Amino acid sequence: MKEIKKIGVMTSGGDSPGMNAAIRSVVRTCAFYGIESAGIYRGYQGMIEGDFIELNARSVKGIINKGGTFLKSARSKDFRTKEGRKEAYNQLVKANIDALVVIGGDGSFTGALIFNQEFDFPVMGIPGTIDNDIAGTSHTIGYDTTLNTVVDVIDKIRDTASSHNRLFFVEVMGRDVGHIALNAGVGAGAEEILIPEEDLGLDRLLESLTRSKESGKSSSIVIVAEGDKIGKNVFELKDYVEENLPEYEVRVSVLGHMQRGGSPSCFDRVLASRMGVKAVESLLEGKFNLMVGLKSDKMTVTPLAKAIKGQSKINKELIRVSDIMSI
Ligand code: ATP
Repeated sequence: MKEIKKIGVMTSGGDSPGMNAAIRSVVRTCAFYGIESAGIYRGYQGMIEGDFIELNARSVKGIINKGGTFLKSARSKDFRTKEGRKEAYNQLVKANIDALVVIGGDGSFTGALIFNQEFDFPVMGIPGTIDNDIAGTSHTIGYDTTLNTVVDVIDKIRDTASSHNRLFFVEVMGRDVGHIALNAGVGAGAEEILIPEEDLGLDRLLESLTRSKESGKSSSIVIVAEGDKIGKNVFELKDYVEENLPEYEVRVSVLGHMQRGGSPSCFDRVLASRMGVKAVESLLEGKFNLMVGLKSDKMTVTPLAKAIKGQSKINKELIRVSDIMSI
């Protein structure tokens, strides 16, 4: 393998809080080991267009606390074509970049792996997505911040819900996985949590809400993941409950993109810093096509192919805890 003298770093797919901290870590680790680094703007699209910036330890100052990604992120159709990837390779060669660190989700890693297979170019993945839906790490960068944001908002909704004896359906992100809904739901004391992995069933939802009312609860909050398995969207759920439980006054709150924003939590900043160091050190040790991850509070690496294919599982114990807490 060619000696690595310069590493390119980029953010790709959906942005997540802590991506800046990860870029900072990659750049500073490169500086620490005396090698160069370059930022690639707008993910794979910027790579194809040669939209690069030379970075050094000082150019990443003042960003550890900033949400989003200063390198911008993008979804690139051109990179899905062989011609697009060839052009991206030519641009990397022209800029003397010897290896790539991709901060993103499973789509970004799939692109990175195909790129490696076609051009034998060393790639390393850092999991940056709020959904926590990647195998090979207990936490992805941004997930913890999002949980804190969601809990904070639900606390506020709870204030108004209890003032008016209302039932709130709060929709949170999670089309395929219910990590955000389940953890934020337990953290905010939600009465029910609807996730893509488990079908609670409409009857059980009605029963549970009836029980809540009978047990003297004056307000209720139900967290609904975007892709919940009951298959009804949050507004259809509202209509259904209002038809069947007319005693409830129901309101809906869709949290949307605010879940992605904001200053990263301390946990995400530390995670991003650790992952950046591990990614660069692994490349310098001649290891690549891997994703760095956190397991039992240790930094690990997992083959990218495995990280892409594996599905991160929800914690069933949390479902039980939630059931017990909503008595
Ligand atoms: P998130 O989980 O936040 O959505 P992601 O990394 O999964 O992040 P995607 O939009 O799926 O986001 O992928 C990001 C980019 O990776 C795509 O826009 C595309 O350029 C590239 N990519 C994804 N899949 C492939 C593929 N099969 N071949 C080539 N490139 C791909």
